[in-house]
Amino acid sequence: MGLFGRLVDDLVNTFVSILKGHQVTWRNLWRERVTLQYPNERPKLPERYRGLPGLHPELCIVCGACAKACPVQVINIQGRKIAGTRHRELVRYQLEAGRCMFCGLCEEACPTKPVKAIRLSNTFELAVADKSALVLEIPQLLEIWKSKPVEVPEEQYLAATPKKLAAQELAKQAEGEKPKAEGAEAAPRPKRVAAEGGPAGG
Ligand code: SF4
Ligand code: SF4
Repeated sequence: MGLFGRLVDDLVNTFVSILKGHQVTWRNLWRERVTLQYPNERPKLPERYRGLPGLHPELCIVCGACAKACPVQVINIQGRKIAGTRHRELVRYQLEAGRCMFCGLCEEACPTKPVKAIRLSNTFELAVADKSALVLEIPQLLEIWKSKPVEVPEEQYLAATPKKLAAQELAKQAEGEKPKAEGAEAAPRPKRVAAEGGPAGG
């Protein structure tokens, strides 16, 4: 092929390449747009999206299962026994959101029913100027918990919180003590009678 032939060949190849490139551009021009002008435009998250965990302190039974299940150990819990009962209440719950992987193992381990005390939300924005702001405490965690709708009505899932169960237990104990106290007074009498009657029997 002579010089002129090679020149024509190069021109044709260049033209074909440009056409191919434009073909791709043209095809994608009519596709649905996937980019968003974030943060002015917000993403529509899937129903089962897994974001940052939120906590409902009233539902928590302070069992520690979430902290044990967390692979990066970002959960710190402090609780105390409700005096006179077998129930425990939450004193402090801290979650280091900056290290959380949104894996959901804490939610899986949480035994509370019908709603989990800890559950993953749709929260994913963690940009802060100071890293210490990512150590979340109960009020922030409750806000996150509430940010995702719950299918069960509130009066249903708040019906048997540890505090309410403890109050019921204490009320039962108080009720049980009354007859016991009466019975305690009544009990010695037959004994005395029996003691008095003992010799008669013996
Ligand atoms: S989502 Fe995973 S990493 Fe985050 S707190 Fe729960 S268990 Fe830990
Ligand atoms: S959040 Fe759930 S798993 Fe964690 S301590 Fe409370 S009840 Fe237990």
